[in-house]
Amino acid sequence: MKKSVIYPGSFDPLTNGHVNIIERAARCFDEVIIGVAKNSSKNSILTPDERVYIFKKLFKNKKKIIIDQFEGLLAEYVNKKKIYTILRGMRTVQDFEYELQMATSNNKLNKKIETIFMVADGNYSHISSSLIKDIIRLGGDASNFIPKIVEKELRKKLLKKG
Ligand code: ADP
Repeated sequence: MKKSVIYPGSFDPLTNGHVNIIERAARCFDEVIIGVAKNSSKNSILTPDERVYIFKKLFKNKKKIIIDQFEGLLAEYVNKKKIYTILRGMRTVQDFEYELQMATSNNKLNKKIETIFMVADGNYSHISSSLIKDIIRLGGDASNFIPKIVEKELRKKLLKKG
């Protein structure tokens, strides 16, 4: 049987830390489904469609990596896909507290759901999407933390905004 996992997140924007988790997960699973959460936070820098576009461009030659998006409860999305293994990244103790709550709640919502964690690579554990947003908004250089395509899309967007 094919071993699949769902890696959900906002990915606003996608960072090198996320890419590292995805590439490592692709070595452990037959299929990694990226679930881009379509949350419309006021604080977002990219629309869900822009985030999906970036993923599709970046992973276009990787057959094991499937790009998808979802709205609403993760437990429902997982149920719809019939893939009950959720993958999350773990960077810090702060991540642990939040992730523990999420994993427990998802399992209470549906007993079939298991959440597994991949420890962040030491080279990326300091990177978060919110850090990137702050750097970009303050006019800094985030190129060491994000894939080139993300940098390009962010620059395009900021130029458009003037
Ligand atoms: P969410 O809004 O769902 O927390 P994120 O896009 O911030 O979505 O993160 C998605 C997942 O990736 C989370 O499990 C998060 O802990 C993990 N993650 C974020 N940044 C990193 C990183 N630098 N290294 C490893 N995992 C990370």
